[in-house]
Amino acid sequence: MRRKLIAGNWKMNGSLAGNAALLDGLRAGCANLNADLAVCVPAPYLAQVQATLTGSGIVWGAQDVSVHESGAYTGEVSVSMLKDFACRYVIVGHSERRSYHGESDELVAQKAVRALGAGLVPIVCVGETLQEREQGQTNAVVTRQLKAVLDAVGTQLAGIVIAYEPVWAIGTGKTATPDMAQQVHELIRTNLAQRDAAAASTIQVLYGGSMKPDNAKELLAMADIDGGLIGGAALKAADFLAIAQAA
Ligand code: PEP
Repeated sequence: MRRKLIAGNWKMNGSLAGNAALLDGLRAGCANLNADLAVCVPAPYLAQVQATLTGSGIVWGAQDVSVHESGAYTGEVSVSMLKDFACRYVIVGHSERRSYHGESDELVAQKAVRALGAGLVPIVCVGETLQEREQGQTNAVVTRQLKAVLDAVGTQLAGIVIAYEPVWAIGTGKTATPDMAQQVHELIRTNLAQRDAAAASTIQVLYGGSMKPDNAKELLAMADIDGGLIGGAALKAADFLAIAQAA
C-alpha cells in the first residue's frame, strides 16, 4: 500500500508575512493525517520554511534546480544549495518550465538525475496539452516524457516521484475526471513496471491539475493515484489541509 503524498507547488507566490500565516496554519492542522505533506516553495523562502516547519512532520522542497553543480550560471540554484536548506523534494519538468523556459525532455531527465545524485527526491512532471489530448496523443506524449527520465535515472528509479499533470487542467479550474486521470496513471505504472516491477509498486504517482477540496476525494480514491501536486489550493491552509484529509 503506497502512502499518499500531498505536495503544494506555491509557484511564484508568497511573501514573508503571508508565508508565516500559511505555514502556521499548516503546522496547526497537520496532526493525524493519513497522508504526507510537502510544500515546494520559491527558493528565497527556503530558509523561512526550514525554520518554521522543522519538527512539524511537513517536509519541503524547491520548484526547479540546475543541472550544474556550481559556477557561472547566473540565476540558477544548485542541488547542494537545496540540500543546505534540508529540502527533501524538487519539482522538475513542470509544464510551466517546459513551456515558458523551453525545457526539453532531456534537460528534465538530467535534472532528475542531478537531484537523485544529491539525495533529493525529484517530483517529475509529465502531461499533455489540450491540443495533444484532442489529437489523441496523450499516451504517446506521456510515454515519451517518461521514457527520457526512465532512461536517464536507470537503477535509481525507485527514488523518484511522478506527477501526471494534464497541462489543460493546471490553473484552469478544469480537472481530469477520476477515470481519465486513472487511465494515464495506469499507463505510467505500466511503463514503470516494464523497467522495474518492484519499484513500480512503490513509486508514488501524483495527480495535478486544479485539485481542490471538492474533487480531491474522488481523484485520490483511484487505484493508481497516490496523492496530489497542488497549485492554487496550496496557498490556503484550510484548502490544502482539506485535500490532505480527503486522502
Ligand atoms: C501545479 O501548478 O502543479 C498545479 C497543479 O496547479 P493548480 O492546482 O493550480 O492547477
